[in-house]
Amino acid sequence: MGTDYDLCINGGGPIGATLACLLATKGLRILLLERGTYSSQPTQNPDGRAYALAEGIRPLLEDAGIWQALPQAGQPINTIHVVDQQGRLPSTSRNSILNGLSFTEDDAPAGRPFGWMVEAHNLLAAIARALPEHDTLDIRAPATGRFTFTPTHAEIALNNGQNVTASLVIAADGRRSLLREQAGIGLTRIPYNKVALVSAIAHEAPHHNSALEHFLPQGPFARLPLPGAPGHPHRSAIVWTDTAKRIEHISSLDAESFLRLVQDRLAGEELGQLQLTGSHWTYPLASQYAHRYYAERLLLVGDAAHGLHPVAGQGMNLGFRDVRTLVELLGNAYAAGADLGSQDILRTYQRLTRPGNLAMLAGCDIMERVFSNNLPIIRHARHFGLNTLKRFPALRRNFVHRAMGL
Ligand SMILES: Cc1cc2nc3c(=O)[nH]c(=O)nc-3n(C[C@H](O)[C@H](O)[C@H](O)COP(=O)(O)OP(=O)(O)OC[C@H]3O[C@@H](n4cnc5c(N)ncnc54)[C@H](O)[C@@H]3O)c2cc1C
Repeated sequence: MGTDYDLCINGGGPIGATLACLLATKGLRILLLERGTYSSQPTQNPDGRAYALAEGIRPLLEDAGIWQALPQAGQPINTIHVVDQQGRLPSTSRNSILNGLSFTEDDAPAGRPFGWMVEAHNLLAAIARALPEHDTLDIRAPATGRFTFTPTHAEIALNNGQNVTASLVIAADGRRSLLREQAGIGLTRIPYNKVALVSAIAHEAPHHNSALEHFLPQGPFARLPLPGAPGHPHRSAIVWTDTAKRIEHISSLDAESFLRLVQDRLAGEELGQLQLTGSHWTYPLASQYAHRYYAERLLLVGDAAHGLHPVAGQGMNLGFRDVRTLVELLGNAYAAGADLGSQDILRTYQRLTRPGNLAMLAGCDIMERVFSNNLPIIRHARHFGLNTLKRFPALRRNFVHRAMGL
């Protein structure tokens, strides 16, 4: 049956919008529905988040025209220090850490950073700039739809009263996906009874493109390098995980007391005087996974399909891997004139993405549990793991290669 659109993408966040741009370059007629608004100017950071994006994801964002449209270039991450519990970074040698491990430029493919830090408001502005560049992309924002699925197509009743049809609908509407719920797709949620506090700090000394992941019994503390801003040439993001009660207490502290606690968690990093540059945001932590990635004429992508603990900064990266798979699958099907909503395509997408996504989700879950556990046997196992990685460069490089999404 002829439809108004080849595809309707519901949810124009980072994952839905990137998918829309990439498939539009292949000629697909796409309706993108986003309930929020877009602004091509980076407004005040809407949610405090700064994303660590794997180097392997950068080409995807370039192909989508989003990377080039960033109002401020991403901040490369060239060194990652991992410190276990009360370890310290010795000031003399940053490459060998007590109770920890450093990943340096020698561990990455020549000349390439491990990843890039991009602040949420810059990514959203870049998306707003890239979307209108595509002729076959119909962007409706703010807009929502009501969906009816039939064996041959999907019908979409837009909130402006218009009714349209598409061969396939993609739910990119985030963790609380209404489309997933409407399709009756089950969800397993794993709460951690922990909260992440995110904030940005300025410091006196440069970060030298390094990131710190400090594992503490109460939860991981991360300092991630950010690009400079007017008045603050040296900046970092922090992601601080602890119990809800302690995060509530930490959030209520005055700047001086807050920064003293931050200093304690920097494991000896010498960043000079610290300064808070904005508010705190808090996120209750949970992992979740959808039991299936498809229903009749419907596919789930990004956080609608899987939500991870942010310990390894892999949630959005995983969504971009879904995008990579879908662009190939739907792009080829479109070129061959095939039905985009066929069972064959829906099943193939799930087969190609879900096992790897579940493995990554399990990996982050284990990391959170193993690193926040102080039982002697777990502590020894942890040290054994870190030391093994420290002693075998080939093993370390293999680990890094995977984390970089290459
Ligand atoms: C504290 C924290 C730190 C993180 N750090 C990292 C990191 O460093 N690296 C990383 O890879 N990931 C990170 N993540 C994970 C990352 O934020 C998510 O994986 C990512 O935002 C998922 O993108 P998405 O587009 O799938 O969903 P979302 O970002 O949730 O976007 C969904 C979009 O759909 C729209 N929408 C919702 N419902 C409707 C509807 N009914 N109709 C129309 N539109 C709708 C929303 O307005 C939104 O624009 C972090 C998460 C947290 C909480």
